[in-house]
Amino acid sequence: MTDPTNWQANAACSRSHPDLFLPLTAKEAHGLGGNTHLHPRIREAMWVCVDCPVRAACLEAAIEGREAGVWGGRYLSAASHWKAASKKRRETAA
Ligand code: SF4
Repeated sequence: MTDPTNWQANAACSRSHPDLFLPLTAKEAHGLGGNTHLHPRIREAMWVCVDCPVRAACLEAAIEGREAGVWGGRYLSAASHWKAASKKRRETAA
């Protein structure tokens, strides 16, 4: 069973190089048209996440910490955090 308070101990990426999960540089992102998942490095990182038992905790921590890069099987950027915050504001105002 996975300990929710120590999710990083069960991370599938613990034996992967951490650079794999970093946000794309401007040079890497050039020409992708926002489709970050098409970059080979990001695809490789996302494959590591596919069978990770702590995806939900990882994603939650990344959203809370406004992290960028591959977390919880998703690519997060400053723009994705901004969109999520805007959506939350709209939902709260409605
Ligand atoms: S979801 Fe991906 S980035 Fe998060 S702990 Fe698992 S393998 Fe690592």
